[in-house]
Amino acid sequence: MPLSHVQFENDCSYPPPRGTVLLLTCMDLRLLDEIIQFMNHDNLANRYDHVVFAGAALGALGAPCAKSDFSHWKKTFFDHLGAAVELHRVEDVYILEHRNCGAYHTVFGACRNYGDSEKEQAAEEACHLKYAQLLQQEIEDWAKQHNIKLRVTKFLMGLRGQVSLLSGPKAKTQSKKSAK
Ligand SMILES: [Zn+2]
Repeated sequence: MPLSHVQFENDCSYPPPRGTVLLLTCMDLRLLDEIIQFMNHDNLANRYDHVVFAGAALGALGAPCAKSDFSHWKKTFFDHLGAAVELHRVEDVYILEHRNCGAYHTVFGACRNYGDSEKEQAAEEACHLKYAQLLQQEIEDWAKQHNIKLRVTKFLMGLRGQVSLLSGPKAKTQSKKSAK
């Protein structure tokens, strides 16, 4: 194995998918092989549809924060999800966000370009969590309407390819909501 492909200790505290997965990622060029490595690590080789939208969850939501109209991206995402479910019987959706996402801060203006301090990294994670949660809710509503079961798991990838679950503590999330 080349030295550039170091295996990270990814968080495996979520249940492993039993069937096919729909994977949503950003288009970031720096992480393409790390994404494949992550999916292989989850024993999902040749068992997933890979959908790429600039900004991952934010793009698939149609970037509601953007000045330009990207709302048609949301329709495209859900049309694609419908096709994937029909053709491949998708049971799980992976939303894989990543740090230092140019789409988030340059294309859609959803956040600033965060720094490397602990505080900045936490703020960056909170921004991704916000949009990943919004998309999760939309996917779960969509699944309910179509009478199918879909489990959504959210992740955040660092620039070395390490992946952590993206799930803020519930109490904290609620206090953030009430502070807005
Ligand atoms: Zn990105």
